[in-house]
Amino acid sequence: METLIFATNNSHKLQEIKQILRNKFNIKSLNDIGFEGDIPETHPTLQGNSLQKAQYIYDRYQTPCFADDTGLVIDALDGEPGVYSARYAGKNASFEDNMNKVLEKLGNHKNRAARFITVITYIDTNGTPHFFEGMVNGFILSEKRGVKGFGYDPIFQPAGYNKTFAEMNDDEKNAISHRGRATEKFVNFLLTQ
Ligand code: IMP
Repeated sequence: METLIFATNNSHKLQEIKQILRNKFNIKSLNDIGFEGDIPETHPTLQGNSLQKAQYIYDRYQTPCFADDTGLVIDALDGEPGVYSARYAGKNASFEDNMNKVLEKLGNHKNRAARFITVITYIDTNGTPHFFEGMVNGFILSEKRGVKGFGYDPIFQPAGYNKTFAEMNDDEKNAISHRGRATEKFVNFLLTQ
């Protein structure tokens, strides 16, 4: 079975992709390969950051590798928090801090349109990068609803639904989410190569 490195230590993401690709690919995390330390994420775009992470690991291990990067893009905030989604309210900001900053900056703004975007970069055995993007459109509510999920889930309601991501169970969210859609494209690519 071919080994792929997933440049992450997020156990939730890891389990999800391992489950989908079980019996087909051997997925290893950064912990599994003994990589410690931080991978630089210095690009101004999601695609740039996801490529940077995958390339950093590929260059050191010469093994096919993939990485993802996600951002919440809010129209009325000129695309913020975007690539800064994880650290919008500061370096060690909590999910609560980040959501509060969004709600404060948006105030009573009428335009609540937003989208989550995920870019997965896969570097194959020849060192060639492939990109897979997933997106979900929705709206930022004026208050938090729901306790499931993580990040900005309690304030994001996908278009066409009356629940926030934090009110959906994993299967409901994965079926329509940015990461679910990007992962689906990536998996289809791997399985049809
Ligand atoms: P990452 O690139 O997957 O680490 O995501 C960056 C940041 O985007 C996270 O720290 C979260 O704040 C936010 N984020 C990513 N995916 C989601 C999601 O599915 N729901 C809510 N917030 C998310």
